[in-house]
Amino acid sequence: MQKQDKITIIVPCYNEQETVPIFIEAMDRVYEKMKREYGVVMEYLFIDDGSRDKTLQILKESAEKYAHVSFLSFSRNFGKEAAMFAGLEHADGDYVVIIDVDLQDPPELVEEMYTTILNSEYDCVASRRVDRTGESKIRSFFAHSFYKIIRKISHTDIVDGARDFRMMTRQMVDAIVSLREYNRFSKGIFQWVGFQTKWLEFENRNRVAGNTKWSFWGLLLYAIDGIIAFSTAPLLLSSMVGIIFCVIALIMVVVFFVRALIWGDPVSGWPSLVCIICLIAGIQLMCNGITGLYVSKTYSEVKRRPQYIVKTYRPSRDQMKALSENEQKD
Ligand code: UDP
Ligand code: MG
Repeated sequence: MQKQDKITIIVPCYNEQETVPIFIEAMDRVYEKMKREYGVVMEYLFIDDGSRDKTLQILKESAEKYAHVSFLSFSRNFGKEAAMFAGLEHADGDYVVIIDVDLQDPPELVEEMYTTILNSEYDCVASRRVDRTGESKIRSFFAHSFYKIIRKISHTDIVDGARDFRMMTRQMVDAIVSLREYNRFSKGIFQWVGFQTKWLEFENRNRVAGNTKWSFWGLLLYAIDGIIAFSTAPLLLSSMVGIIFCVIALIMVVVFFVRALIWGDPVSGWPSLVCIICLIAGIQLMCNGITGLYVSKTYSEVKRRPQYIVKTYRPSRDQMKALSENEQKD
C-alpha cells in the first residue's frame, strides 16, 4: 500500500473561544475533500497560548470529539511566535501548515499548497495578501514602510504582505526548528533558512469572529524586534551619526577660534547653544538606546530561557493509535 502523506495543521490560538469551532468546521471541509482525492491524513495541532477565556475547554472537548484534533496548552501567554515554534517542534507530519484560527487565512488554499509542493520542486508554499482592505491608511503606510526598510537593511528577502500561513516540507521544518534563537522573527527565519518558496496571493479577509490581538503599539514593537533580529544597520547608522557630528564639531572649533582671534569674543548666542546641546544630547541618547536594544536582546539570548512552557499536551486519538500500532510492530 502506498504511504499516506500526513499533514499537520498548526493553529495558534489566544482567546479564540468563538473562532475554534468555526475553524474546525471549515478545515474539516477541506480535509474531507483532500482525504477523498489524495488519500492524505491530517492532524490539527492547536496551540493554546495561555488563553484566559474558554479556548482550552473548547479544545479539550474538540479533542474528545474528533480523532484528528490535538492540542498543547501554555502555562501563560508567550506570544504567537512561541506558539508557532512549539507547533513546529511538536508536529510530526510529512508536511506542516501554519494557519490562523480566525479564517483570515483561507483553509481552501491548503489543497493548492499540497498539490503545488507535490508536483514541483518547491519546499514551501506561502501566502501573501495583495491588499490591506479593512485596515487603516496609517497602519498600511507604516507596514509598507517597515517592509521597505527591513528589505534594504537585512539582506533577507522579507516579502511585503507575507502571512505566516504556509505549507512546508519536513526538511524545511527541521531546518527552522534547528534555529534555537530566543528572539524569533519567523517572517525572517522562513526566508533565512532558504529552500524554494512559491507565493500564492489572496485578497484580505476579515476575521470571522473575535478581535485582533495586535494593537498599533504591539505591531510597532514587533517591527523593531524584526529589524534588531535581522540587521545590525541601526548600529552602523548610530556610529555614522556620531562621526558626522564629531566632524561638524571640529570644523566649528576651528571657525570659532579663528573668528575670536580676528573679531574678539563677544558673549552672545546662548539660545542657539542650548538648542545644539539639546540636539546632541538627544542624538547621544538615541544612539545609546539603539546599542541598548542589541545588548538587551543579547541578554535575553544568553539566558537561554525556553520559548514557552507547556502545561498540557494532548496528542490526537489518531496519533496515539498510530503510535501503539508501531509499538506492536516493533
Ligand atoms: N495569537 C497567539 N498568541 C498571541 C496573539 C495571537 O497565538 O499572543 C494567534 C491568534 O489566536 C490568531 C493568530 O495568532 O490565530 C493571529 O492573531 P490575530 O488574528 O489577532 O492577528 P492579525 O490577524 O490581526 O494580525
Ligand atoms: Mg487575524
